[in-house]
Amino acid sequence: MFAKNFLQFNLKHLILLLAFSSAAITLLNSLSASYQVQRKLLIQQSLDSNQVYARKLATSTENFLQASQQQLAVTAEELVPELHKQDKVQAIANRLRRLTESFNSVVIVSAEGEVLATSPEALRIVGHHLQSPGALEALKERKPLISEAYLSAANNLLVFISHPLFAETGEYLGYIGGSIYLKERSILNSLLGTHYYKDGSYLFVVDQNRRLLYHPNAERVGERVHDNAVIEQVVSGNEGSDQVQNSQGIEMLAGFAPVGSANWGIVAQRPLEATLAPLNSQMHAVIYHTLPLALVTLLLIWWLARLVSKPLWQLADNAQSLDKPCTPDRIKRVRSWYFESAELKRAMLLGINLLHTRIGELKNDAETDPLTGLSNRRGSELTLALLHEKQVPFSVLAIDIDHFKQVNDTYGHDCGDEVLKSLAEILKSCTRQEDLACRTGGEEFMILLPNVHLQGAQELAERLRKAVAKYLFAEVGVLTISIGVAEWPEQADEPAKVLKYADHALYRAKKRGRNRTEMYQK
Ligand code: GH3
Ligand code: MG
Ligand code: MG
Repeated sequence: MFAKNFLQFNLKHLILLLAFSSAAITLLNSLSASYQVQRKLLIQQSLDSNQVYARKLATSTENFLQASQQQLAVTAEELVPELHKQDKVQAIANRLRRLTESFNSVVIVSAEGEVLATSPEALRIVGHHLQSPGALEALKERKPLISEAYLSAANNLLVFISHPLFAETGEYLGYIGGSIYLKERSILNSLLGTHYYKDGSYLFVVDQNRRLLYHPNAERVGERVHDNAVIEQVVSGNEGSDQVQNSQGIEMLAGFAPVGSANWGIVAQRPLEATLAPLNSQMHAVIYHTLPLALVTLLLIWWLARLVSKPLWQLADNAQSLDKPCTPDRIKRVRSWYFESAELKRAMLLGINLLHTRIGELKNDAETDPLTGLSNRRGSELTLALLHEKQVPFSVLAIDIDHFKQVNDTYGHDCGDEVLKSLAEILKSCTRQEDLACRTGGEEFMILLPNVHLQGAQELAERLRKAVAKYLFAEVGVLTISIGVAEWPEQADEPAKVLKYADHALYRAKKRGRNRTEMYQK
């Protein structure tokens, strides 16, 4: 394997990392951007619709209060001429309560504050003087009024709506008033309570003292609410919307609108969570629908990363074994389909070629004699070893120039070198392709003759000797050589020994007068 070190990233991992992270960042970015935009939109929509809703209810409440006051005004007109008739007064009180259903109770009071009639009659306060804030205020102000919320003598939290009674002469005769019980079933509860959502949305009504007049949790009606920005706004007579925390710490999107005539405020609100719930499921759906395409994209990225990295990976793998003979072929088989990999492949093949040529040259240099171009002693030793290994029989000629020292002495060393070169040419020309002529020392040569026996070797030696003897060396003229011949494996078991035997024979040739061939004899 190429990746020996697990901590070392390879190109494929890097491409994958790069592509995956950019795809993931793009996806997350677009998801988050669309989430943010949608979220803002939903919140704004919810705020707006709550505001519209609060305004609508404020208008309905306003209409209801005006209608109630109108009923009181009309009843007051009818009542004034009948005020001295007790039965009639009682009947009018009953009729007003039953007919309109606006009021939980109705009371008719004289200018002195004495209760003339009540409905229902069970209240049993006729003849009494009322001390409640609403009653006192009505007597004092002598004009149409809507009271603040307060606890009555009978312990009812209520709002009191009253209208003064004036004679035609303008004399103040008292007032007629109706109570709306805030904690019991009332027209106000019916008006507001029918609009209760299931997703945690609700509305509430406060008066100018921040007291809850209506709340879906009936226990909280009458409670005063502090530190609520929305309530502060609405009791100041403003309409609008805002994001607030309710008393339970839940984030709410509130719309609010004032009920001008009563100085009340209506707040309609929806939990932020409920508003955003569809967005969350929408996001899940988007992710769910994006998933298959994302998966296909990831597979495509993986496949492309593999395609891009494969040629480089294969080249890198082969780069570790440039010296192996099979490497060039393996590199040639790498499908380098794009520019950089193709260039790398080309450079590697060029490099390997150069390397192998250079190694070949060095090897050749190491085995070649620079003067004559024949093999040197090392070259001959390698060939000997090869013949021995393959058990190829051979003969060897040991050759020495006769009286060569004289040539040097007479014509100079350079001229001697030229003689050595010329002799090398003669040796080459007289031998076969498979024979190996080498220069083993100063003016000593050797010829290895594979698959040639002693007889054949002797014949060649003679041909050679005669060829030299009749050759005219430049400037020097005629020269002779002496040759010793031996053969392997007939004459020696080891190849090295047979060289020595050839030398013995050469020595004998010298001794016997030179310009001769001698065979080794045991
Ligand atoms: P013989 O072999 O017939 O007994 O006589 P010889 O004169 O050839 O004797 P010897 O082998 O002792 O001398 C070899 C001479 O070869 C000695 C040296 O001057 C000469 N020689 C050796 N190597 C070179 C070489 O590379 N170039 C030249 N020009 N001469 C060399
Ligand atoms: Mg010699
Ligand atoms: Mg010699």
